[in-house]
Amino acid sequence: MYYKKNKYFFEKINAISVAKEFGTPLYVYSYNKIKKNVINFKNYFKSFNPLVCFSVKSNSNLSILKIIGKFGLGADVVSIGELMKVLKAGIKPNKIVFSGVGKNSKEIEYAIKKKILLINAESVEEIIEIEKIAKKRKEIVNIGIRLNPDTDAKTISKISTGKKEDKFGVSEKKLSEIINNYKSSKFIKIKCLSVHIGSQITSNKPYDMMLKVINRVINKIKFKFEYIDLGGGMGIEYEIKQKKLNYKNYCDSIKNFLKKNNSKIIFEPGRSIIGDAGILLTKVIYIKKTRNKNFVILDAAMNDLIRPALYNAKHRINPCDKKGKYEKKLHEFVGPICETSDSFLLTKKYKKLKPGEIMLIHDVGAYGMVLSSNYNLRPKPAEVLINGSKPIIIKKRQNIRDII
Ligand SMILES: *Cc1c(COP(=O)(O)O)cnc(C)c1O
Repeated sequence: MYYKKNKYFFEKINAISVAKEFGTPLYVYSYNKIKKNVINFKNYFKSFNPLVCFSVKSNSNLSILKIIGKFGLGADVVSIGELMKVLKAGIKPNKIVFSGVGKNSKEIEYAIKKKILLINAESVEEIIEIEKIAKKRKEIVNIGIRLNPDTDAKTISKISTGKKEDKFGVSEKKLSEIINNYKSSKFIKIKCLSVHIGSQITSNKPYDMMLKVINRVINKIKFKFEYIDLGGGMGIEYEIKQKKLNYKNYCDSIKNFLKKNNSKIIFEPGRSIIGDAGILLTKVIYIKKTRNKNFVILDAAMNDLIRPALYNAKHRINPCDKKGKYEKKLHEFVGPICETSDSFLLTKKYKKLKPGEIMLIHDVGAYGMVLSSNYNLRPKPAEVLINGSKPIIIKKRQNIRDII
């Protein structure tokens, strides 16, 4: 995905022609970018050969899950729907982990029936429920326990998950009680210690702190976990020249950790696999000029991409054709929805735009389409996958009559 002579291309295809063929707003993914991301991720950590479980909540398009499965990744799911979908995509149960604070009995029973690798439990209450169901079914169930390491991921607070005031995981004290109470259970086998401290992490410090905590906890409780699941959270570059996670340092820290604790490592990356492999194409409807600001009103809105409204997230917005005159005036890119928070970006100098012009919103592959809604009774956008010079529809645009 790149500019060539001012025009944006997905692999070999001009972005404007994709917008013309499939309409806007439109999610577009690059097959080769996904492939590259998976290969890079595996390479960073190849010295200890982890099990990489793609976080399905970041993007659950069936075709994308099939591709990711084909590249050898497993899956991290958080609901029965996601579990059913990854099985349908051909991902093997022995590569699936199930996370989440509120798995209900139906979800637990289904996961047990499908014999997935691990149910990562997040509370004593959940473990009691798992044991009850396992006993009823006369089966032995492998579980992980999610530790809340009380580590600040130094990311936006709404996507921090590893501090003691967050709802996720159990405290160190609870963990040791659970181990004592369940280490000789007939129906539950404690196999894994899991953590996931948050998302869009761009500094190594939180990960190093997290490893330190896990190391200390394991030493104290003296229990051998077959797996250590370190979660996901690796950040991507939403803005040019933004701070980047140093994968080599993260890998070195984990290797150090493994010298003292010999376990198989599991990762659950979402954003770092799919985030920068997706673009949202959108058309300019109007340019509403006010004294201080030009509002560029797009045909994409917060129902299509909610991250800016929900987390104040910044996504770069560029024209598909960069050629033109530039004007020094404040520009605010907004959608048509009746909410002031339906605003994507505020910038200064920008190309003089015209209605009908096709724009790109970058890095929307993760937490984009999955968070879309029908707010304002707007149909959800279509999704297209590009492989070389061939665009294929991998999700049809919702039909307005169907949602009525
Ligand atoms: C959301 C989530 C992930 C993925 O996080 P990314 O930042 O997308 O890598 C992994 N594990 C758990 C438990 C999650 O909730």
